[in-house]
Amino acid sequence: MTSLDTRLRAAHPCFWHNPDYYPSAPVNDAVGIRQAAERLTRFAPCIRALFPGTGDGIIESPLSRADNFARALENYWGMPVTGTLWLKRDNELPISGSIKARGGIHEVLKYAEDLALSAGLLHQEQDYRCLLDEKVRALFARHTLAVGSTGNLGLSIGTMAAHLGFQVDVHMSADARQWKKDRLRQLGVRVHEYEDDYSRAVAEGRRLAEQDPDCHFVDDEHSLDLFTGYGVAGRRLKAQLDAKGIIPSAEHPLIVYLPCGVGGGPGGVAYGLKQELGPHVHCFFVEPVQSPCVLLGMMTGKGAELTVEEYGLNNRTAADGLAVGRPSALVCRLMQPILAGAMTVEDQQLFRLLTLLQDSEGIKAEPSAMAGAGGMHQLLQQTEWQQLATQAHHLLWLTGGSMVPTEEHRAYYRKGQA
Ligand SMILES: *Cc1c(COP(=O)(O)O)cnc(C)c1O
Repeated sequence: MTSLDTRLRAAHPCFWHNPDYYPSAPVNDAVGIRQAAERLTRFAPCIRALFPGTGDGIIESPLSRADNFARALENYWGMPVTGTLWLKRDNELPISGSIKARGGIHEVLKYAEDLALSAGLLHQEQDYRCLLDEKVRALFARHTLAVGSTGNLGLSIGTMAAHLGFQVDVHMSADARQWKKDRLRQLGVRVHEYEDDYSRAVAEGRRLAEQDPDCHFVDDEHSLDLFTGYGVAGRRLKAQLDAKGIIPSAEHPLIVYLPCGVGGGPGGVAYGLKQELGPHVHCFFVEPVQSPCVLLGMMTGKGAELTVEEYGLNNRTAADGLAVGRPSALVCRLMQPILAGAMTVEDQQLFRLLTLLQDSEGIKAEPSAMAGAGGMHQLLQQTEWQQLATQAHHLLWLTGGSMVPTEEHRAYYRKGQA
């Protein structure tokens, strides 16, 4: 404990084993992941009409094997990468190119559905393309969605909400990328910029939204609608594994590495996976060495009461989606028996890994998305996991990146080469 404490404070890469982890913990569905999945199915015709690129209107990403990346990692780390390496390619999710297309879009759709239902303009058995009718759009135009975001959540909420005809306010922290702000403004979204960090943008967005009864604030720190939207990934991945004949077992467990910011995205996914796959899936969160807010919240038991700054870290990282100093209290609580552990990773690694992934598999990811691979490096060095790892399926959740402008990605790539 003390040596881990020292390493964390010194911003060295760390591995934390969750002492409360209980692999076969029963996971009920009080949070409502099944309803979220059904809602997304009802909306599929509407999504397909608005975004023809989504095909069947179900927003999902491929699962693929990454043997070439595994060999590249072995060379880079100078150690064997045992088991089988898989990539969950949320970097290619339609509409916004990141994991936020799961939770963020679900919450927008839930708000839209509730409004249309209570206005008597929709019933659940109807074809949801009726939400594109003039009358419904006029209703949506009188309502506002607001969100505080480091970038990708704003992009997901803003894109979906603007297409449905809502007014949108996105409150962005200073570290958000210019191209995300530009894209949103082109869609007619009002983008407000803050010099402070992400928690400040969220607080300010929440305060302004509370003054307007026709405004819904998407609360990244507390929202169950976001959480369940992410959670749907569990059943979707289960189906993809089934299709490849993979059934996680004691002998061949599935180890999942999830880049983590405030915790909602990885938390929802971990919850959904535990529901579907039970004791043989082990989920880990991976955070930047300067922003391990969920690791600290869970390790100390203080949840959202502790910030990384209070712990002596600076919350500065190039992984903009992960630059979060205060975790979600909801996630810290829900993850207590579900999360196997958490790791931290240095920024420098993220860029190097991004370059290796591009070279070995031709896949474009953003720095945040590479955290999972850094976490796997930590796990492979833990004696208590090495045995299990040899025959495991390792799954890196690639959380974002396909929409990063080419020039920007090239700059990331060059950083990783250097
Ligand atoms: C938001 C985000 C994450 C982490 O999700 P949280 O809900 O903030 O924990 C990881 N990767 C990318 C690319 C993201 O945008």
